[in-house]
Amino acid sequence: MKASAFSYARATSVVNALELLVAHGDKAKVLSGGQSLMPAMNLRLISPELIVDIGEIAELRGIAVRGDVLSVGALTRHVDLLRSPEIAAHTPLLTEAVAHVAHPAIRNRGTLGGSLAHADPASELPACMVALNATIIISGQAGERRIAAEDFFTGIYETALSAQELLISVELPVAQKNSTHFFHEFARRHGDYALVGLAAQAIVEGEEFADLRMAFFAVGDRPVLAKAAKKLVNVALTPAVLSEASTALGEELDPHEDHQASAAMRRHLAKVLLARCTSAVHGRPDLDAGGPV
Ligand SMILES: Cc1cc2nc3c(=O)[nH]c(=O)nc-3n(C[C@H](O)[C@H](O)[C@H](O)COP(=O)(O)OP(=O)(O)OC[C@H]3O[C@@H](n4cnc5c(N)ncnc54)[C@H](O)[C@@H]3O)c2cc1C
Repeated sequence: MKASAFSYARATSVVNALELLVAHGDKAKVLSGGQSLMPAMNLRLISPELIVDIGEIAELRGIAVRGDVLSVGALTRHVDLLRSPEIAAHTPLLTEAVAHVAHPAIRNRGTLGGSLAHADPASELPACMVALNATIIISGQAGERRIAAEDFFTGIYETALSAQELLISVELPVAQKNSTHFFHEFARRHGDYALVGLAAQAIVEGEEFADLRMAFFAVGDRPVLAKAAKKLVNVALTPAVLSEASTALGEELDPHEDHQASAAMRRHLAKVLLARCTSAVHGRPDLDAGGPV
């Protein structure tokens, strides 16, 4: 199928893009890498009257470290994240996760801003933003808004963005001393959307977690920052502690059922990931074996 007829405008600046979005309201759509927008238009799931192409706006590009913050422009492509030495040094979780996003052809065009604005609950990058405690920077005619990633995702394909706003960049705290990460997803094939995945960022002191942010994906209508992770922080890690956290996780999650997996299977896989994360971060195979595998 082909998309419905639409008009096209290439925005020359953020200000120009915002003017176009305000003038056309809900009838306009932003185009970044087009890897989600174009398939949706071709399937006629959406039929915008105007496409506002932001792909040439230089101010939306770039990865920069400023003090203890890493700033990443919305137009940064998946492949740029994958190859960036700054990302590898300061947010290695992202380097590991982005290798699981689709395939090279899609990673060559798809962008960070597009992935976050699209807000697919099975996507890797939204969960990473939640795990990394990112701040999402949004621009509208009234000025700039800064939203914690945890509050940015509001439902399936829904975010705090309005139709008249642009996602400009994200800010990520650079990895602290003693910080570490874990990423794993279960997918039918490498590059497919995950059945269930976990992006986690932790601070480790001795044999304990001093902090642990576990963001599960494909288990709800948005990335889920697991409250159950708190049960693993500042406590000696034993099979009993892990079992308690696992039970709490199972109660907390409300996964959906689809043709790929039942809700029970998704809940089970999330528990497996919780145990694997704990075991891998601390080099404790006994915890994985004792976990709910
Ligand atoms: C076959 C296939 C497999 C894929 N597999 C995966 C996968 O495993 N994991 C995964 O995470 N993704 C996957 N994707 C999606 C891919 O990562 C997309 O690149 C990404 O979701 C959207 O990025 P984009 O730059 O292409 O955005 P676009 O398609 O251009 O835009 C997506 C949406 O975001 C809006 N938007 C874009 N940029 C902005 C902005 N700066 N401000 C406001 N709104 C904006 C658009 O209006 C649109 O609604 C897959 C895509 C395909 C085609």
